[in-house]
Amino acid sequence: MEQKHPEEKDNPTQMDSIKCPHCAHDVQFPFEARHVICNNCRQRLDLTSQFAFLRGLAAFEEGQAIVQEVNPKKKRNLTKYNNSYKTALNLFMEAYSSLQVAFQTRLGEIQRQVGVEMMASMSQEFMKHLMVSGLEVSYWNSIMVEQTAQIEYDGLKEKLRQKEGGIILRLRWVLRLRQLRKKQQEINTKIAVLENQIAFVDIPVARNSKWKA
Ligand SMILES: [Zn+2]
Repeated sequence: MEQKHPEEKDNPTQMDSIKCPHCAHDVQFPFEARHVICNNCRQRLDLTSQFAFLRGLAAFEEGQAIVQEVNPKKKRNLTKYNNSYKTALNLFMEAYSSLQVAFQTRLGEIQRQVGVEMMASMSQEFMKHLMVSGLEVSYWNSIMVEQTAQIEYDGLKEKLRQKEGGIILRLRWVLRLRQLRKKQQEINTKIAVLENQIAFVDIPVARNSKWKA
């Protein structure tokens, strides 16, 4: 799904630009480039993945806007509602396949988190119409659970580090951290089993590989 610009082939000076997902700087690159190194943070950006993420995000937001506009509780015009829902579902399918492409390489951390939220939410919507397997829904849901647990863990660690709260509260946080570490181990095993069962051609790079308890 990479955009080709054959008319630009003989003109390598034609440039495009993208916002770096790591440091938010504008990065310029020739139209035909597949990768670019951010000249500010020196991270290597996979442009196929970056553009797939942006397409996925745009389609998801458009679909969400349609869903929110047609309140299913006020189905006075059922045909209109059904048509709008169908349009939204098509946008979600477009978003889902774009994000599958995006997740083939490592995204920026915020992109990764937002991407996981979108995949978890869309796969659940698709499940209502049996458009995805239960395993796939379970996979994205588990990645989302892992992500939420990691965010909570990091937040509590930071509070303890900053010496916030009284002794009782701090004790509660320490116990919660222990719970979260256990949960993390369980979810890790579950995700490994699901990855095996789904037999991905390429396992999505959807987890925070740098995270440590
Ligand atoms: Zn950068």
